[in-house]
Amino acid sequence: MNLTILGATGSIGKSTLDVVARHPDRYRVAALAAHSSSDALLELCRAHRPHTAVLAGVAPSARLCAAFREFGTELLFGAEALEHVALDSRCEVVMAAIVGAAGLASTLAAARAGKRVLLANKEALVMAGPLLTHAAHQAGATLLPVDSEHNAVFQCLSNASAVRRIILTASGGPFRAAPLEALDAVTPAQACAHPNWVMGPKISVDSATMMNKGLEVIEARWLFDLPPATIEVVIHPQSIVHSLVEYIDGSLIAQLSNPDMRVPIAHALGYPERIASGARPLDLTAMKALSFERPDERRFPCLRLAYSALERGGTAPAVLNAANEVAVDAFLAGRLPFTSIARVISETLEAVPGAPAADLSAVMAADEQGRRIAAACVLARAA
Ligand code: NDP
Ligand code: MG
Repeated sequence: MNLTILGATGSIGKSTLDVVARHPDRYRVAALAAHSSSDALLELCRAHRPHTAVLAGVAPSARLCAAFREFGTELLFGAEALEHVALDSRCEVVMAAIVGAAGLASTLAAARAGKRVLLANKEALVMAGPLLTHAAHQAGATLLPVDSEHNAVFQCLSNASAVRRIILTASGGPFRAAPLEALDAVTPAQACAHPNWVMGPKISVDSATMMNKGLEVIEARWLFDLPPATIEVVIHPQSIVHSLVEYIDGSLIAQLSNPDMRVPIAHALGYPERIASGARPLDLTAMKALSFERPDERRFPCLRLAYSALERGGTAPAVLNAANEVAVDAFLAGRLPFTSIARVISETLEAVPGAPAADLSAVMAADEQGRRIAAACVLARAA
């Protein structure tokens, strides 16, 4: 199988290549794409020899092209090149692992081209869930969830019409038990120090605010075509149960593993077969108690914001996502206190009027408007 990885230099990209390297007989790496980590991408090309590489955020350079050519790799530049490799007939499988809204166009292109899309880039479904799932359906593309919770739900689903609810688990992040009054002063380094997972900086902050779970509720709504009221969130600090499906007869089916993204990645890569992931097996007898608790709305206001954007519908989830990206960037750059992330998102959602998400340009316009208003909110708070 020929596999293209968008976001190859990131946390998910590298874990994917780790799994792929365990199965040289099954997978051939077709193309690898990143934003600007040219050295890291070059190293990956040395190891995996793709025919094409992309640097989406770098100006064309003859020197770089020559360096990649040494490994038989043609180097392309610019955001359009992401769509080009996503569509390329020389790959059947696309791992969509770019972070944020920047991943939407290429994920949509892969779906429209009828690829098997391994979906890590949850922001694409948050922004354009109906468009993306419709495009996949029309083109006969398969969307396979890589996000651990959605992958778990997918593994537990056997009879969708008999589902009473699905329960997405959340670790609660690094500040689950911190005093509420201490949250104003937390640093980016503290927010990125996730207790159970090692991830990129944006999703780490999303986990600390629990916007990550909010985005995942919206992701689940479109991926499994379920009404929002049937999607629940429960805090499970050990991150061993990755999510659960409850059926109308009262049965609750869960998927368990150690917190290692190679498990859902290997599941999506191998599906419907099972392949080795390299993850450490779960030792049940060595495991401490598994606990579950209700999320505290005062501590995690972002969760309610996501449910309300989903209820509003149209372009509201795209605005929510845009405002979150702007606020998280500002927090990571030291320009916004942690607790103001939710405030910026809430103010932005109030300021942007609702609109239908009829096509990609309507979604992108809402994304742009959300970014503009959120940036102004950040500035006003810094003043
Ligand atoms: P990282 O920050 O570790 O990696 C992001 C990747 O995307 C890098 O390869 C980066 O390239 C590339 N990238 C960033 N911006 C652009 C852009 N504008 N154009 C092209 N490429 C770009 O992120 P993660 O791997 O943690 O997350 C990736 C996605 O997977 C996110 O949507 C996240 O929500 C989702 N996810 C991640 C999980 C995890 O455990 N990490 C778990 C579940 C979902 P460069 O290195 O050049 O900047
Ligand atoms: Mg997740």
